[in-house]
Amino acid sequence: MSLSILINGARGRMGQAVASAAREMNLVVGAAIDVGDDAAAGLARCDVVVDFSSHAATRSILELAVAQKKPVVLGTTGHAAAEKKALLALAGQVPCVWAGNFSVGVNLLFALTRRAAAVLGSDYDAEVIEMHHRFKKDAPSGTAARLLEIILEERKLNASALRHGREGITGERTPTEVGMHALRGGDVVGDHTVMFAALGERVELTHKASDRGIFARGALRAAQWVVHQPAGVYDMQDVLGLK
Ligand code: NAD
Repeated sequence: MSLSILINGARGRMGQAVASAAREMNLVVGAAIDVGDDAAAGLARCDVVVDFSSHAATRSILELAVAQKKPVVLGTTGHAAAEKKALLALAGQVPCVWAGNFSVGVNLLFALTRRAAAVLGSDYDAEVIEMHHRFKKDAPSGTAARLLEIILEERKLNASALRHGREGITGERTPTEVGMHALRGGDVVGDHTVMFAALGERVELTHKASDRGIFARGALRAAQWVVHQPAGVYDMQDVLGLK
């Protein structure tokens, strides 16, 4: 029998992309809900939640999934670090794929960034640049946040190394800082560049998304995978076997 999906955030850009990807992939949308709809009744007739809504909605959808013992695919971004930590404990009570980016190409970019950060070392100044459409509500993007985390992990730095934009008399760049720049405009689906710059050369790794269908198809691939997993929090690297 085909998997039945609950789409949370169904009226949004991603919710609509998930509905159309589900049709392509012969999956059933058992319930498509948004602000004000009855999530509990919708989830009761579905096998798995696919959530692209708002960070403020994550706790309630996770609590519902835990109560009904249903797996979750969580694509929503914009959680503060402390908020995310508390939510992870809840998410771990059911099988949950939580990814800031469900595209296969971006997940390869994560792996390449880790490799580049390790090989190039701290002599190469690391900066992350992202650009998204004018309607995006959070910054930096979840994908950029993950790229930063990877660089910090490889360089054994903590979040105090991050520099979100620069303005005024900043002084010379310190060797340990990692720059982050969020651009907003037009209808850009999602561009990410990781730059490693040294004296004499520069390496740039870039991914450009031109259709949000890539995230929707990846999220549905994750949904098909997560229904067979034990409780725990997974990411797209697990789904794609990149670990
Ligand atoms: P959007 O603003 O177009 O849509 C969000 C939808 O969620 C809206 O219809 C809104 O009414 C609904 N919503 C808000 N609060 C809700 C609640 N409490 N219950 C149910 N529905 C609620 O946004 P979007 O562009 O579709 O993006 C949604 C989220 O997905 C954002 O956080 C975005 O950053 C993220 N995103 C993630 C990926 C990924 O691959 N992980 C890709 C694209 C977007």
